[in-house]
Amino acid sequence: MKDVKMPDFVTYCRNVFVPVTNICRNKCGYCGFKRKPDDEDAHLMHIEEIIPILENGKRAGCTEVLFTFGEYAEEVVEYREWLQDLGYSSTVEYVAELCEIAIKIGLLPHTNAGILDSSRLKILKPLNASLGLMLETTAKLDAPDMAHNDCVGKDPALRLDAIKAAGKLKIPFTTGILVGIGETLDDRINSLQSIANIHERYGHIQEVIIQNFMPKPNTPMSKHKPPAKQEMVQAVLLARDILPEDVTVQVAPNLIDPYLLVQSGASDLGGISPTTIDWINPEAEWPSVSNLQKMVKSVQLRERLPIYPQYIKKGWYGNGVKELVEKLADGDGYRKT
Ligand code: SF4
Repeated sequence: MKDVKMPDFVTYCRNVFVPVTNICRNKCGYCGFKRKPDDEDAHLMHIEEIIPILENGKRAGCTEVLFTFGEYAEEVVEYREWLQDLGYSSTVEYVAELCEIAIKIGLLPHTNAGILDSSRLKILKPLNASLGLMLETTAKLDAPDMAHNDCVGKDPALRLDAIKAAGKLKIPFTTGILVGIGETLDDRINSLQSIANIHERYGHIQEVIIQNFMPKPNTPMSKHKPPAKQEMVQAVLLARDILPEDVTVQVAPNLIDPYLLVQSGASDLGGISPTTIDWINPEAEWPSVSNLQKMVKSVQLRERLPIYPQYIKKGWYGNGVKELVEKLADGDGYRKT
């Protein structure tokens, strides 16, 4: 393994989290986010609900809006009807509109809408600072009682193809692995190696999240143990060893104490929000920026945008976000103070 040195600084991004819909075609065993259409809290958020959230985030100094979805909710009949009632024929058409609104308000969109094919990526590229899709794992965990049983979208080959498609289009991209969902150590190594191979070919992976599985109540995996801290340290060390130097390793400071992981090679703490909760892990509160600083002790914090400096320098952003990226970035490509 390569030697790990403490980073000079660790980065984070101030964001607003908008869970546009919690309808999803998959049935991940660990998911506490997805709802069925007839559940009381199933939703497709309306523009009128979203605008005040964006404005509030802007006032609180955020630069990013994270738009999150269940995957291909259009496969669910009721969702298609909700979308049509709003006047849209597809999720991507709706997201594009939301991105335009966010940009006008002054936030840079980062959309995480599950697997997207090339034609959908082409629509979203000009309107997003970056896009994201967790690989999670290259292991096939689709047998009964496994994490990805009955999850057509969790076929690793489909997810790797979607990440490659974004690379072909030169879209700055966030991906990651989910640690502790039933995969083996070899699976983790293979997942990281697959991401590294894609980045070596297309050069578009800006960050890889090493995320610890957290059991959620009322899910099939509610009794499944989360990974031990030492397992997470090992995963971060592996990531830093396998991934190319220009790919940042990110950990989530609301899910795990980040200091040990920063000592192991993580150098980004992801998006934290002063105004919205983590809708995927609602039990895990975001730390404030001052608490984040305490968590990483003497390591400096530096705020970044949802597009990393190297991609700003390369001009890998679309016309829709150009003006805003250039307004918010400093000369080094971090957030202007
Ligand atoms: S794809 Fe995401 S939203 Fe859908 S069931 Fe899996 S974890 Fe939940």
